[in-house]
This record gives sequence, C-alpha cells and structure tokens, in this order.
Amino acid sequence: MTEQGVGRVLVIGAGLGGLTLAHALVRAGLDVHVYEADDGSGERFQGHRIGLAEPGLAALRASLPQRLHELVEATSGGLTGPGLLFDEQLTELSRDLDGPQEGSRAVDRQVLRRILRGGLGDRVTHGKRLRGFAEGADGTVTARFADGTEATGAVLVGADGGNSVVRRHLVPEVGLVDSDLCGVMGRTTITDRFLRLVPGRGTMVKGPGITLMLGRMQFDREPSAAAAELVPGLDMPYRDSYVRWVLLVPPEHPAATDPGSAREDARELVLELIEGWHPDLRDLVRSADMSGVGRSKIYDRPMPPWPVGRVTLLGDAAHLTLASGGNGANTAMQDAVRLSARLAEAHRGERDLLSALGAYQGDMLERGNAAVRFGKEALKRFVPPRPQETR
Ligand SMILES: Cc1cc2nc3c(=O)[nH]c(=O)nc-3n(C[C@H](O)[C@H](O)[C@H](O)COP(=O)(O)OP(=O)(O)OC[C@H]3O[C@@H](n4cnc5c(N)ncnc54)[C@H](O)[C@@H]3O)c2cc1C
Repeated sequence: MTEQGVGRVLVIGAGLGGLTLAHALVRAGLDVHVYEADDGSGERFQGHRIGLAEPGLAALRASLPQRLHELVEATSGGLTGPGLLFDEQLTELSRDLDGPQEGSRAVDRQVLRRILRGGLGDRVTHGKRLRGFAEGADGTVTARFADGTEATGAVLVGADGGNSVVRRHLVPEVGLVDSDLCGVMGRTTITDRFLRLVPGRGTMVKGPGITLMLGRMQFDREPSAAAAELVPGLDMPYRDSYVRWVLLVPPEHPAATDPGSAREDARELVLELIEGWHPDLRDLVRSADMSGVGRSKIYDRPMPPWPVGRVTLLGDAAHLTLASGGNGANTAMQDAVRLSARLAEAHRGERDLLSALGAYQGDMLERGNAAVRFGKEALKRFVPPRPQETR
C-alpha cells in the first residue's frame, strides 16, 4: 500500500463476476482494467437464463451505476408462483416444488453481460487471453497474454471461470473432473401454449428415468426498448421472452459420454428420449433454439487456501458450482463486492494490502466451498444416485 492507494487491479475475465468487480472497484475509486479472452464480437453459449437471489441482486445494487441497475431491474422477470411437478403426460403431481428464494429474479445471461459491460468503456480489453503471470519483488504483478503483450498492476484477480489459468498456476493441485450433470438445453419463444407449462417459479417434468426442467424468462420490459430509454447508446439487440428448458440426459447415455453433438443432432436426441410425451412438450423442443449435449465439470476437491500474495481468485475460478445449485453467479457477484470492499479498505490506508487479500480469501473460500457442496446436494433431486452409490 502506498500513499497513492492500492494501484491498478488487473481483472482476468469479463464474465459476470469480473465485470461486477470492475464496477464495484470503479465506484470505490480504484483503478481497474479487465482483460477478456473473447474478441467481444459474438455471444458465447453459456446457458440462457439465470436466477439471481439476494446475494447477487444486492451485489448489483452495490456496484452498478444507477441507470445500469435500473436496466437490470427493467429487463429481469419474476420468479413467483407455484413450482409444478408433472408427469410426462402433463398430469399435475405437485404444486409445491422447491424453487428459488423469495424475491429472486430471472435474468437473461447475455442481456446481463451487456449491461455489465456498459459504463466500463476502455477499462475492458477484449482478445487478451492470459497465459501466465509473475509477481515482482517490487510489489507488482505482471500478466502475460497469448498475443505476446503484458500488463502490470498491483493486484491480479483470476475471474477467468471454471477452466481458470490463474487457478492452475496458483493452486495446481486442484483439477477438473466430470460431474454427473449432463444435459441438453433449449430456448423457445413464449406463446400462451408454452407459458401454461411454466405459470410459476419453475416446472419439473419427471418421465420414466428422465427429467425435464422448465423455467420462464419473461422480461418485464423488452431489453432493447428498455436500454434505448434508460441507457441510450448501450448495444442491446431485440429479444423475445422465452421458456428455457433443460433435459437432463442420464450420465451413462452414449450421447452424454461423448458430448459435443451438433445442435440439430441434440434436438433429435431429445425428441427420441421424450418419445410419447405430451405434444406440448414435444413441440416446445421442436420450436427451440438448441444447445448441443453438455457435460458439466467440477473441481476434484474443495478449494484449499493458498499462500496469500497479490494474485487471487473470484467466482467459478475459485469454486466451480454445478448449475443444479443455481448459486454460482450469485456467489461470484458476492465475491466481487466483498473483494472490492477489502481492497477499498487498503486503498484508504485502513489496512495492509496483503491482510485485505487474506481476509477476502478466508471469507470467499468458506462461502464458495459451501456453495459447491450445496450444488452437489441439489443435484440429487434431479439425477438418481448411480448404482455404486446406493450400495
Ligand atoms: C446452464 C447453467 C445455468 C446456471 N444457472 C445459474 C443460476 O440460475 N444462478 C446462478 O447463480 N448461477 C448459475 N449458473 C452458474 C453461473 O453461470 C456461473 O457461476 C457464473 O457465470 C460464474 O461467473 P464467473 O465470472 O466466475 O465466470 P464466467 O462467467 O464463466 O466468466 C469467465 C470469463 O473469463 C474469460 N476467460 C477464460 N479464460 C480466460 C483467459 N485465459 N484469459 C482471459 N479471459 C479468460 C471467459 O471468456 C469469460 O468471459 C449456471 C451455470 C450454467 C452452466
């Protein structure tokens, strides 16, 4: 820590966590730059809709400029009403299914990412894939990118997701392994017919040995119209409200053991797996914008502490949660505001920089590892235990 404050914070990854951190740091008066591997021209497929509960919503309130926050609120959707359980012929079995916490909101991932990108201007550089980093004896850390360039700052934050390069350098003993969570996902534009399938906070359809999850992304306001009014100039394409569905493919299914199928192949696979199901469900799939078959990965152990230095981790890079927990983005955003608060304390001279990073690490690992355990437990609701686990 110097009289000039902490110095520049280098954030690796412009995902939900990294961008939230950048906003929080700007608001706290710190110098930050975000380096993102994507070239920024397209939209990566990483799921459609996410549910934000209080930790995530509070983090956005605490970090975003007012107009951007208003835009998040305007483009989110309600997650209230009954949680329905149907059989494959749409016979209602329960209206009491567990759902998101009271007050949670649905947000479209791409819409949220565009909002989070707003207001950061040239503080974000695309096309910068981190390869490695080095801590200097002079209290600096230097990031090295695949294009041969470098950037130097006072702190480096690995917000580079589940396949994190920063995590591999910092905590090499932690590895990625397959989980039993395999699925095909689709997004189908909302019509009255499809809306009846998800009138509330979520719907689960349990067929013989297979589960289909449905969620609603019904924008309070169409995103491009809301953006044009609230944040003119923010790039936001037109989007229809939709039903997001996920078919959990049994982990032993050949398509799940060799994922990466093309989207149309995945549609055929889903239609095959739901042969004989209610026509509304089959038509939902026929009309969908599809993903291929995906198999989620997870870390092979809880994230251990590492020697505190000027490099730290945030979000999935530190605690790769399964989608079944619905808490990965929430936890990443909470990391962002907590890390920003600790760095701001150091910036104001209230504590030493390494003690700030140590305090953050302890808090983040406790919350993050708990979030991972929660996601694994939640998975059991959807995927029956494998034979060896029942013995
Ligand atoms: C299907 C699905 C549904 C989900 N639903 C929910 C939900 O309902 N609620 C919830 O809270 N969470 C949910 N999650 C989890 C949530 O999406 C993640 O936890 C969250 O995106 C993590 O944010 P992050 O910033 O840590 O990582 P990411 O959002 O993955 O961002 C990482 C960024 O780093 C960049 N990057 C990677 N490597 C490098 C590199 N070497 N150099 C530079 N940049 C790099 C990537 O391009 C990316 O932009 C879901 C996940 C999935 C897959």
